[in-house]
Amino acid sequence: MSLGIVHYNNPVLRRKGEKITVFDDGLTSLADAMIETMHAAHGIGLAAQQVGHALQLCVIDLRGTEAEFDWKLDGAKPPLELFMPMVVVNPKVSVARKAPTESVEEGCLSFPEIRGPVTRAQAISAKFQDPSGLPHTLDCNGLLARCFQHEVDHLNGILFIDRMDKEFRPTIDEALKALVKATKAGQVVPK
Ligand code: ZN
Repeated sequence: MSLGIVHYNNPVLRRKGEKITVFDDGLTSLADAMIETMHAAHGIGLAAQQVGHALQLCVIDLRGTEAEFDWKLDGAKPPLELFMPMVVVNPKVSVARKAPTESVEEGCLSFPEIRGPVTRAQAISAKFQDPSGLPHTLDCNGLLARCFQHEVDHLNGILFIDRMDKEFRPTIDEALKALVKATKAGQVVPK
């Protein structure tokens, strides 16, 4: 089942997600619905807040991208097809001190038509759980590291416009205002 995606400035996007403690069928169904919603919207990542739930839960699927990146999942390198779409529960990201950063253009399904450069760490390490509650570690770089950081930000109520490069940010002011207005007029109500 495809879910409605909430747009900026729906307040749920600013809510920090609650830690998930129950790993039941309800969680699996929500994650499955989020994957379907992400695919239908041609996105590469989707956070629970974007479908109206303030939870520590997001989904990622980079199988369709041509970007080059590297990863180690639980110390091995399984093919992307084996672990994507990924369901990420209760993630914690760590970035090495003085890790190289890069500025790359991003978009977000909660900000249709709006894109802009965001500076983020090129590589991260993360710990998370899968929908069965099993713990995993992920070391990755490039687009996967970027997507992971973008989604984990969502789970903490942080949006890509908050991190957008300062010189660029004012250029989207008008588009943001229009989006806030449109969202108010036809707001998708969080469930
Ligand atoms: Zn987003």
